[in-house]
Amino acid sequence: RDATVDLKAAIRAIPDHPKPGIIFRDLTTLMGNPEAFRATCQALADAHQDRGVTHVAGIEARGFIFGAAVADRMQTAFVPVRKAGKLPHKTITKSYALEYGEDTLEIHEDALPEGARVLLIDDLLATGGTAAASVELIRAAGGEVAGAGFVVELVGLPGRSRLEGLGVETLALTS
Ligand code: 5GP
Repeated sequence: RDATVDLKAAIRAIPDHPKPGIIFRDLTTLMGNPEAFRATCQALADAHQDRGVTHVAGIEARGFIFGAAVADRMQTAFVPVRKAGKLPHKTITKSYALEYGEDTLEIHEDALPEGARVLLIDDLLATGGTAAASVELIRAAGGEVAGAGFVVELVGLPGRSRLEGLGVETLALTS
């Protein structure tokens, strides 16, 4: 990775967003910095370069931004994993628990051909619930998970252990 670019310094911390006690990691400042954005997308691509990746799956919405850029760099296809009700064709659906309540993600049932090796991309790994649900969707659609890349990993949460053995690569660790 381009060691001259401090990715962590390009990420802004917003206290008490979206609710009191939560520090939200705001990556719009990183996206708004051309050197940091470019270095981030390149590092995510480089980290998974030798894994035979055929498709990048990005999780709505920030995973689309990084995932599409990574797919372009890796010269692979891009597949969206979307919130419920957004994809127009037949979907496979997975609901997963949030701290309060649940959320639902979907993938098109025909999004992946047999033998697809999929790199999952999102901006941030916290509890791992979002990524674990996405892994299930990729597998249910017939793909194999070749890796998982995140810009930020919140350490001290179970995210990484929930993705054990899947080749997780993260660029910036924060507590
Ligand atoms: P998890 O399912 O791992 O607990 O949460 C990760 C998901 O929530 C990701 O899709 C990520 O975009 C979003 N998320 C949770 N906390 C933050 C945060 O502080 N900053 C950003 N940018 N996204 C977050």
